Amino acid sequence: MSERIFNFSAGPAVLPEPVLKQAQRDLFALPGVGMSVLEISHRSPTFEQIIAEAEADLRKLVGIPDNYKVLFLQGGASLQFTTIPMNLLPKGASADYILTGSWGQGAIKEAKKLGTVREAANTGDTNFNRLPKPDEVKLDPNAAYVHYTSNETIFGVEFQDEPVVGNVPLVCDMSSDFISRPVDVSKYGLIYAGAQKNAGPAGATIVIVRDDLLERVPEGLPAMLDYKNFAKNGSMYNTPPCFAIYICGLVFKWALNDIGGLENVQAMNKEKAAVLYKAIDASDNYYRGHAEADCRSQMNVTFRLPSEDLEKKFIKEATAAGLDGLKGHRSVGGLRASIYNAFPKAGVEKLVEFMADFQKNNG
Ligand SMILES: *Cc1c(COP(=O)(O)O)cnc(C)c1O
Repeated sequence: MSERIFNFSAGPAVLPEPVLKQAQRDLFALPGVGMSVLEISHRSPTFEQIIAEAEADLRKLVGIPDNYKVLFLQGGASLQFTTIPMNLLPKGASADYILTGSWGQGAIKEAKKLGTVREAANTGDTNFNRLPKPDEVKLDPNAAYVHYTSNETIFGVEFQDEPVVGNVPLVCDMSSDFISRPVDVSKYGLIYAGAQKNAGPAGATIVIVRDDLLERVPEGLPAMLDYKNFAKNGSMYNTPPCFAIYICGLVFKWALNDIGGLENVQAMNKEKAAVLYKAIDASDNYYRGHAEADCRSQMNVTFRLPSEDLEKKFIKEATAAGLDGLKGHRSVGGLRASIYNAFPKAGVEKLVEFMADFQKNNG
């Protein structure tokens, strides 16, 4: 089969078609180089240009100020759960975590192995179907940083605005809504994202960190986990994930040049999510959204059907109809439609049509 179907996977996830086509063309031989990016030295001028362009394009796309470093790392967002406290949580200090889902839980679990962690908020009492109200967030003004997850991929809840944290550096796991909308980087101390939701393939992790935080990094960390070491070496202390960085670079160019920047990306995403949520809300409670209406994610739309048997049937028939990857995460059950930047609107429309038919036949 060489036809593409509609891929609702939560990650690794759908990539822009022009990016796949260019990667396919370049895979045998980069124009003018005669070798593919899979085969060349990371110290070659060709790759140095690829990584420099990827960084420059990301800086332009997101509007990253000059006093921030951009790092291309490995180990996924999950390794950052460890690296962040290792680098930014000094001995004797404490860090605040705003907990709104499974990924936040993962971040806390690892941070606790390395230092003192406070839960500044926790919406687990309602199975993470909402965000904390501002007065539910109890911050420690002396915290080393405040960590939150802008979009909880599994539950489908997304912050529309940053939590207000005063002078405490804000650290954000942006893995599943990175480059999905404009963001004011100057409000953050550190932003991190595994690439495989919106930015590229698995294998690259992007960290954007403010220069003054690097001064906190203690001496003597393992070299591979030391932000300062990677900042000093332009992300090339050792062999970086060359191919993943190359694809991320193509995705950044696509978002900049084909789509026209993050305002347009956001408009596209809002339109797609609105079509899907409208269908859920208009279904007479046949389809039930997991997240409360004002906390809904524009990226991961989570919903349930009247019974688990119907959910199984829905997934099976949807897959047969070319709508793949709709099974929800086991901790929430139900369905999850991940509609990242590159997911086409036509796929959302097809899903909505399928939902209406399914309800008619199984209502
Ligand atoms: C996918 C995801 C992760 C885990 O990413 P890995 O790269 O697999 O470690 C962490 N946080 C969020 C919000 C995610 O969506």
